[in-house]
Amino acid sequence: MPVPISLIVDDSCPLVHVYAWHRRDVHGQPLVTPDGREIPLFIPNAFLDRFCDITERWGMAGKFSIVPAPGGCGDVVRGIDGFDPALTRAWLETMQRRLAARWDFCSEGITHNLAVNLETGEFFPESENAWSQRQDRTTLTPYLIHQLALLRDAGVDCTGVTSPWVFGIQVEPEYIASLVAAQKAVYGREFSWYFLHMLWNTPHRRPWIAYQEAGTTLVHIPALVNDYWWDTIDSPRTDAEFLNALTDRMLTRDGRAGKIREVLDAGGWPVLLTHWQSLFSSGLETGLVILDELGRRIRETLAGEVEWMNFSEIARRTACVESGNSDCRWVMPGPDSTDTGRSPETTRRTAPV
Ligand SMILES: [Zn+2]
Repeated sequence: MPVPISLIVDDSCPLVHVYAWHRRDVHGQPLVTPDGREIPLFIPNAFLDRFCDITERWGMAGKFSIVPAPGGCGDVVRGIDGFDPALTRAWLETMQRRLAARWDFCSEGITHNLAVNLETGEFFPESENAWSQRQDRTTLTPYLIHQLALLRDAGVDCTGVTSPWVFGIQVEPEYIASLVAAQKAVYGREFSWYFLHMLWNTPHRRPWIAYQEAGTTLVHIPALVNDYWWDTIDSPRTDAEFLNALTDRMLTRDGRAGKIREVLDAGGWPVLLTHWQSLFSSGLETGLVILDELGRRIRETLAGEVEWMNFSEIARRTACVESGNSDCRWVMPGPDSTDTGRSPETTRRTAPV
């Protein structure tokens, strides 16, 4: 049976180049690459179409973040500040039309920038990540409800949640309780997933059940393959040697080396991490070229060994395998695959360290 392969796309959202805003507002860094090129504050809608062209070409699947109030600069419901709201709606429409069939959608913070004071609507003088680490379920739950409700009101069904940076990692039991409560409050959902942990040194690790109680299940899906596209943000290079070298770090042309190969050989499920800004490459879109080549290599060298899956499929398969079911073929994707929400009865699990 092929093992799941999946792509995490973080920091995506309409128009706003979230990483640029974060770089300026949280770190106080200039918006200039080391070779002197300006890092744009916005990303045109056509970039989403070019991303979809590639993922459709290779049948890729995974999870796709939508930062609901990106940079604190408007939001997905009323539109991005300074732009016609029709542009935000068009971005969301393209996302639904071209990605919904094979990708899970999720929130990723409210702003992915400074934390929001929900009582006043003002910003706290620290990032969401820093703020989260001192919270408990009484403050995390409304924070998660707010981000999910924005996306629900924009017509997006979020089957899970992505943690901006390592949101909540130091208070993870409280964070888990909040994730469960927020999904239930906003969507009435009792089976969901979240992404927080990046496990570069344990290639054998598979997703796990973080919470299971009274018919409610939360699966954690970790990233095992680092964002090798990231180097394109600050590099002016677009030559074949540069592109090949970065792609090789994930999978060589013959499929016999690279991090994906390492994960497969260790018995893990290759869940790859990338970011909207890593694919945009400060406007050069070098990252998209690498994604295209990687898709080709996976199809040509790993056919039969891996199968592209989205996060709902991986979560259901994890719940099935963890329940001790000897036959989990029913959780494989296919033309009749639907979100059944089936979650086998098992005893409560706690997240491993
Ligand atoms: Zn992020």
